[in-house]
Amino acid sequence: MESQTTKKCPFCAEDILAEAVKCKHCGADLNAKKGSFKLTKGDKPKEGLFLQTMNCGCAVIFIIIILIIVMMVLN
Ligand SMILES: [Zn+2]
Repeated sequence: MESQTTKKCPFCAEDILAEAVKCKHCGADLNAKKGSFKLTKGDKPKEGLFLQTMNCGCAVIFIIIILIIVMMVLN
């Protein structure tokens, strides 16, 4: 009769069905952990892209400042 695969709930350590998406003992959402991990992973490249854009902007501003200084010296 024990053909159903069980696993331990990471929140309350009670035995629950392996296919369970919600713990029957503490009501914890077992799929939420996976989803939040994915979300955290997806946030990182976004941050990198933002930093890349910032660096690009800084380089442009640096060139503009140099051009302004050169113009002032020439005048
Ligand atoms: Zn639980």
